[in-house]
Amino acid sequence: MSAKARPLIDPARCTGCGRCVAACAPHVLWLEAADPRGWGSKRAVLHDPSGCTGCADCLRVCPFDAVAMRRAPEQPLSAANAAAPPAAPAPGRSPPH
Ligand code: SF4
Ligand code: SF4
Repeated sequence: MSAKARPLIDPARCTGCGRCVAACAPHVLWLEAADPRGWGSKRAVLHDPSGCTGCADCLRVCPFDAVAMRRAPEQPLSAANAAAPPAAPAPGRSPPH
């Protein structure tokens, strides 16, 4: 699935209230803690950009203006928004001949 626009979340505005996470039908947003052990303040992160439909429901429900929709090709890659690389094929397997 490829959306024309995807959310860009401003970490300075995001309070971690979770409204966008609850509103996202394909469940591609989640709350991520500042501390890797799960402590500290949380903020919304688009963890699966390829699953985003571009519906903008997250933008509509955010009470803090923390979400902006950006055209997908223009969205800068960051650690938080980058898609995971495709899985490598299992070793020792080859297609049938
Ligand atoms: S609704 Fe807005 S403030 Fe709340 S978690 Fe989502 S982006 Fe952050
Ligand atoms: S635009 Fe829609 S599908 Fe994409 S993250 Fe926001 S609510 Fe989810």
